[in-house]
Amino acid sequence: MKTYDAIVIGAGPGGYPCAIRLAQLKQKTVCIEKESPGGVCLNWGCIPSKALIGAAHFYHKAKDADSMGIRIGSVEVDPGKLQDWKEGIVKRLTGGVRGLLKGNGADLVMGNARIVGPRQVEVTQADGTVEKLEATKAIVIATGSSTIELPSFKFDGKQIIGAKDAVSLREIPKRLLVIGGGIIGLELGMVYQGFGSELTVVEALPDLLTGTDPECTKIVERRLLKRGATIHKNAKAAGYERLADGSISVKIDQDGKQITANVDVVLVAIGMRPNSKNLGLEQVGVTIDQRGFVPTDRSCRTNVPSIYAVGDVSGVPMLAHKATKEGEIAAEVIAGHHAEKDWVAIPGAVFTDPEIASVGLTEAEAKAKGIEISVGKFPFAALGKAMAMNETEGFVKVIADKKTKQVLGVHMVGPDVSTMISEAALSLEMAAFLEDITLTVHPHPTLGESFMEAAAHAMGAAVHIMNR
Ligand SMILES: Cc1cc2nc3c(=O)[nH]c(=O)nc-3n(C[C@H](O)[C@H](O)[C@H](O)COP(=O)(O)OP(=O)(O)OC[C@H]3O[C@@H](n4cnc5c(N)ncnc54)[C@H](O)[C@@H]3O)c2cc1C
Repeated sequence: MKTYDAIVIGAGPGGYPCAIRLAQLKQKTVCIEKESPGGVCLNWGCIPSKALIGAAHFYHKAKDADSMGIRIGSVEVDPGKLQDWKEGIVKRLTGGVRGLLKGNGADLVMGNARIVGPRQVEVTQADGTVEKLEATKAIVIATGSSTIELPSFKFDGKQIIGAKDAVSLREIPKRLLVIGGGIIGLELGMVYQGFGSELTVVEALPDLLTGTDPECTKIVERRLLKRGATIHKNAKAAGYERLADGSISVKIDQDGKQITANVDVVLVAIGMRPNSKNLGLEQVGVTIDQRGFVPTDRSCRTNVPSIYAVGDVSGVPMLAHKATKEGEIAAEVIAGHHAEKDWVAIPGAVFTDPEIASVGLTEAEAKAKGIEISVGKFPFAALGKAMAMNETEGFVKVIADKKTKQVLGVHMVGPDVSTMISEAALSLEMAAFLEDITLTVHPHPTLGESFMEAAAHAMGAAVHIMNR
């Protein structure tokens, strides 16, 4: 039996950074992966979807170039070539993961791992070979999550699809229906809408992007509708029928009424579920909660002291950067260093058009906590840089404690706000006050000025918009 200090199961953004950090800390480490290094994020999640979103954004800019005095002529998308380009990016990045593991001295074993003891793992490789591995210090579960399927919409990989197929379409659907108006559904829905698909969104809840600042969501919803989307809220896709012409008639229950939508492709995007089954966790006594997550303490340790869990499998938010941070924490702890989950807030970005990015409390959350707040808001329509980019829709909103002026939350919708949110996250981590933001000189002309102006607005001191 091969012995390691640590065995990491899963090479996604939780597992591979964990294995790399362990190796850097001189721990003999193996990372086991059953599909492809990089996990969901690199293979069919964050990166492939953002490549398509980047292309859709470029396409729109090119189509709109005339308004800036640039004549391009006809702008067309070649979906096959687009896929080849995207796949090239995935290949480069997943190859990079292999190289980084090797370069740092961690082993990568391809196979399906199962925990057979508090320190033992059995790996079944593609050729059926079974190998037993032992960890002297720890096992890290970084097995991620999988798409939730709807029983009435079983995936066929062509017309009824999940996100994994949706990032690999080599034809733009004429009519696309997305079940689920959450992040993944709207990001991918807007890509294909941008490339010409007629888009229908069916959302069971009263709002799109539940949990996101409602004012930010409104801007994205307005853009969806302006581009011709049909949005059914408080509605459930109940089933479908295949029509003689090959299209699909989706039955939708809305407010007690039944409506139908005839489409060519249905994307089911109702969420992800943690991969905690068939791993042997029950046999070794690892607790799994009702939703299938593996609960951990601040050190990423499960109830079994030698077993850690990081990333999507260990709980929400299911985000790549949260997975990576947890992977690094687990590695530090296993190597005997002090580390723990002590972040103030995890930023989130929604790569719709325009983007939404948030960190910390929303106005409603702050009020529910009984905090009196000051809110400052700066619209991109008043910002020179946004005008120069021809992207003036959206705003930056800063929420602060009215008495202390400490920044509690920042919510943005507009151009490249996914980049800008990092400064807001730093502000929360460093317990910044509104003055800290306004006293920081921001270069001109940049989108970042809008964060400074929104903080000034919360203090009644904005210069480029009227204060209340
Ligand atoms: C379409 C889409 C877009 C997304 N966009 C973003 C985004 O923009 N930003 C963001 O932060 N997040 C995004 N996410 C979420 C992000 O992909 C996940 O949060 C992230 O991948 C979680 O990392 P992980 O390491 O926990 O799990 P995963 O990435 O799921 O990796 C787990 C790995 O473990 C392997 N594995 C599982 N079981 C075993 C086993 N028994 N033996 C061996 N290997 C096993 C799997 O094959 C997989 O490679 C997106 C997700 C989707 C689906």
